[in-house]
Amino acid sequence: MYIDSHCHLDFTVFDEDRDHLIEQCRHLGVDGFIIPGTKFERWNNQVLLKARYPMFSMAYGIHPYFLSDELIVSVEYLGEFCENNDAVAVGEIGLDIWPTSLPLDLQLSFFRSQLSVASTLNLPIILHARRSYDLLYKELKKQRFSYGGVVHGFSGSLVQAKRFIELGFVLGIGGNITYTRASKSIKVVKELKNEDFVLETDSPDMPVMGLQGERNTPRNIPLIAQSIADIRQQSLHSIAKNTSMNVCRVFPKFVRGSNVEL
Ligand SMILES: [Zn+2]
Repeated sequence: MYIDSHCHLDFTVFDEDRDHLIEQCRHLGVDGFIIPGTKFERWNNQVLLKARYPMFSMAYGIHPYFLSDELIVSVEYLGEFCENNDAVAVGEIGLDIWPTSLPLDLQLSFFRSQLSVASTLNLPIILHARRSYDLLYKELKKQRFSYGGVVHGFSGSLVQAKRFIELGFVLGIGGNITYTRASKSIKVVKELKNEDFVLETDSPDMPVMGLQGERNTPRNIPLIAQSIADIRQQSLHSIAKNTSMNVCRVFPKFVRGSNVEL
């Protein structure tokens, strides 16, 4: 059985067929889903969805790319919100260095505040990093953050991978790995230990090879697992088993879909 450790099934693009999609996932053996928070205004909607879909595990946080709509005071609610609503992690939080993103100092202040919430609650984080692996590593070390988490959609080097792993993180491996041109990621995935990574789709984004332009869904988790199995010369079964165990280790509050009563 597989877990999609990062999918945005709360987005409206899934409103029409969410039930059907979950059913299809179950048939494919995908029975656990972590839904990271993106915007303050969407947290309540996540809570409503969680009530309807007990197989969803929720994280709450403010995504660095969407900060232009956000107020730093929203972070004051984050701790209480996480506590009251069974958050498995704080996220996704991080730094997004991109021409259309907000200035770095502002991103850093949001990141530091959200990171301190995670520390206070002893929760892991879901880390979003674009062009910022080294900076985030330094920041996590400086803040002595010790609850680990996932570096989502990891596409860095082996050196960067090892640094995060030393800090107690695992790497989220997604659709990128299905592309034959992803030679840097393929090299990293070959070298990792079984304990070092988890599966993710980042649905509806990050399509797998051959399905570009389509909405991505957790149905593609087995395709990602197959690519990893081929690269590492391991069985699909061991990829499923190890990555699921890793999710349960990194997110102690995670509850598997197959364990929830419907
Ligand atoms: Zn995401």
